[in-house]
Amino acid sequence: MSEAAETVRLFFALWPANALQEKLAIWARQAADRGRAMRRENIHLTLAFLGATEASLIPSLTAHALSVRFGPIRLPLDRVGYWKHNRIIWCGAGEEPQALVALVDALRTRLDAGGIHYDHKPFVSHITLVRNAHGLPAVPAWIPLVWQAHDFALVSSTRVEGRVSYAVLQRFPAAAD
Ligand code: ATP
Ligand code: MG
Repeated sequence: MSEAAETVRLFFALWPANALQEKLAIWARQAADRGRAMRRENIHLTLAFLGATEASLIPSLTAHALSVRFGPIRLPLDRVGYWKHNRIIWCGAGEEPQALVALVDALRTRLDAGGIHYDHKPFVSHITLVRNAHGLPAVPAWIPLVWQAHDFALVSSTRVEGRVSYAVLQRFPAAAD
């Protein structure tokens, strides 16, 4: 009997620098109320969610991602919101930057061409800040930030003693301006 192939839970994301994660995490903790603030090191923006993927596919996934051409992304974080259906408080851009939409399109097209499975739900960019939230009651003032993203990342997600832990496996740089 052959052994089951080893799988890893994977996704592509924009991964903020620590300093930006820290600013977002501080706000998240203030806003958390009865919810659960995302930990600083887990804060990100998902581009495509692959889910359980055979580990042996990672080199080809990486090659696909390296072939995606995209420019630097200027992402204003000028909106916070609450989604009832999954009870998260999030932040993001009031108006989706064209460069971000182009990156997601290019990446997903490349994954399609490579026969790589991912969740095809339409992309709605957001950064989750609080989980299990009950709304946006009396949240602290949101100070708009601007995120300049110069790469995207392939990330693995694991659960260790009930806590989700993400690891950036590789980064893929934008073409120069
Ligand atoms: P957990 O599910 O263990 O509570 P999590 O949702 O943070 O924690 P993952 O489920 O591994 O961790 O998800 C990783 C990232 O992908 C998160 O940003 C999550 O919102 C997003 N994600 C998860 N499932 C999907 C999906 N089916 N479609 C799109 N994005 C997804
Ligand atoms: Mg999840």
